Amino acid sequence: MRRREWGAGTAGVPRRARWAVMAAFCAVPCVGLAGDGFPVVMAGAQPCVRLADLARTYGLRASSPQPERLELLSPFHAMRFEEGNRRISLMEVVLWLQYPASRVRGRWVIHRADAENLIDPILRPYRHLRGRGATIVVLDAGHGGRDGGAESPYGPVVEKDVALDIVRRVRDYLPVGELVVRLTREADEFLELDERSRRAAQWGADIFVSIHCNSGPDPAATGIETYVLSKAGLGSTHDTRPVPVVPARMFPGNHHDAASAVLGFNLQRRLIHETNAQDRGLRHARFAVLRDAPCAATLVECGFLSNREDARRLADPGYRDQLACGIARGIMDYVGAVRKAEVMLP
Ligand SMILES: [Zn+2]
Repeated sequence: MRRREWGAGTAGVPRRARWAVMAAFCAVPCVGLAGDGFPVVMAGAQPCVRLADLARTYGLRASSPQPERLELLSPFHAMRFEEGNRRISLMEVVLWLQYPASRVRGRWVIHRADAENLIDPILRPYRHLRGRGATIVVLDAGHGGRDGGAESPYGPVVEKDVALDIVRRVRDYLPVGELVVRLTREADEFLELDERSRRAAQWGADIFVSIHCNSGPDPAATGIETYVLSKAGLGSTHDTRPVPVVPARMFPGNHHDAASAVLGFNLQRRLIHETNAQDRGLRHARFAVLRDAPCAATLVECGFLSNREDARRLADPGYRDQLACGIARGIMDYVGAVRKAEVMLP
């Protein structure tokens, strides 16, 4: 998938725009409770929650190694925030918030959507996954046929072929009999984007994972990133505008935001662990296959074909097998979380 390189948080955003971020978060706190019980603090027009309330809920201790940094720690969890930055670390996995972490009257806050639909599902999946299915897995190899996707300038490596090989390997890793695994395409055939979602819906998918390779103008760009659908009314990770103007319209995929966050986080975590590739994080975008997904859905960019080393690794069947193993393990983590959710709460 072709895209340009994106900046981190407000880095790369014009100074005036950075002030807009700060202005948006300099407002009078007000009353209200978020759906899961976090008190809501208004920062301009944006509903936020205090990180102190998250820390209390999750039993984390706050530590500030530098004035612009905050860490929330326990023997089991670690969350690291930087003021004005959307990029955070959660259990050593990079996560992109949809709004930067900030301070309102000296108190750290994040956007309510990031707290409720990203962080809370990852830390307390049992609250969000009850009643969800975890049997039918649809694997989607990006591109195909006349649409080759990205191509490496360093050798004959084409995205559509890499993606198809990886999904076949993922299928082989998943337990037959326990899960039903279907591929949107089994061969080198062209498939419209909406046809991929339609097939997933027809097959009653519980889990949808789309596999791609990245490409960008910076040949130094390297690593793996996993996408989930942007929350309704909020921007995408590639959007450097601090307060993007986007329609608040819900898409089918938005009904699965929390479940997709759990799935995407586990995939990214397992992929980085298996490959030791650069962790470019769990991100948000409105890709068609995520927007129209009938279930928990993610899109994985397995590496940059525009990077010499990534392209070399992606051309190696052994490395593609490592990627497939990471994806399969991430899927099984999600399946396990769904099953656990059934017995965790009365
Ligand atoms: Zn692609």
